[in-house]
Amino acid sequence: MGSDQFFLRYWGVRGSIPAPGPDTVRYGGNTTCIEVQAGDRLLCIDGGTGVRLYGQDLMKRLPVQVTFLMTHLHWDHVQGFPFFTPFLVPGNHFKIYSGHHNGGNIHGVLKQLMAQPAFPISMDAFQSEVGFSFIEPGDRIEMGDLKIDTMLLRHPGGVLGYRFEYRGKVFVHASDWEHPDEGMDEEFIEFARDADILSVDATYTNEEYEGRCGPSRRGWGHASHEAAIAHADAAGVKRTVMCHHEQTRTDGGLDDIAARLFVGRSDLEFALEGRRIDLL
Ligand SMILES: [Zn+2]
Ligand SMILES: [Zn+2]
Repeated sequence: MGSDQFFLRYWGVRGSIPAPGPDTVRYGGNTTCIEVQAGDRLLCIDGGTGVRLYGQDLMKRLPVQVTFLMTHLHWDHVQGFPFFTPFLVPGNHFKIYSGHHNGGNIHGVLKQLMAQPAFPISMDAFQSEVGFSFIEPGDRIEMGDLKIDTMLLRHPGGVLGYRFEYRGKVFVHASDWEHPDEGMDEEFIEFARDADILSVDATYTNEEYEGRCGPSRRGWGHASHEAAIAHADAAGVKRTVMCHHEQTRTDGGLDDIAARLFVGRSDLEFALEGRRIDLL
């Protein structure tokens, strides 16, 4: 039964820039895009390059009505939209929610992405109905018995975190996000409190974050694996999926980190492109 479903599926797990190739084929090289289905409602977080694959999947079941929720407008979260084929097909309905980031919004960014001299066709080519809605951090979106709360996350220009609640189950997506240099992000912990699944930024190793190999990544807007785990534990999260893998991280590199940090912890995993995770 459609209404009994509540699941998410990662179509893109990579941070910052796509990283295809033989070394990333297992975890995936596409940037952020997460399909969410609650009952019969189709939703999607972000339009990174993974959204091209989500579009191919939707093409098999047109017409569709999808609500997009933007975390923010950095390249790796918007870059796939010009290649999202369902926009070009009549009969579909899309609504895209985003915040305002550094004075910009998703409508303006999409218009710029799809314009000469950088791209051959403009948004005028859209045959579907594509609407835009703007939200502020702290706003709640209600769609029947699905409730979506939002929070402003620590990231240059600001990011919206999303907390979905449907039929007693909670899914929180919080990426891109940087933990404080010292102490814990108490607001973040409250937002993720008792989530059944937390999808969280875990871009860097401690060594990378602190600048013990290469430049310090402090202030770049992303979390270390260790900080992501500490915050998930403090929030009492049941299952933590770490995403926004750093672009140079190979499949073997992720396996090595898992072997070090996930020992005896069946509640921790790395996001895998194509994997569906059921909440109901
Ligand atoms: Zn990002
Ligand atoms: Zn970002």
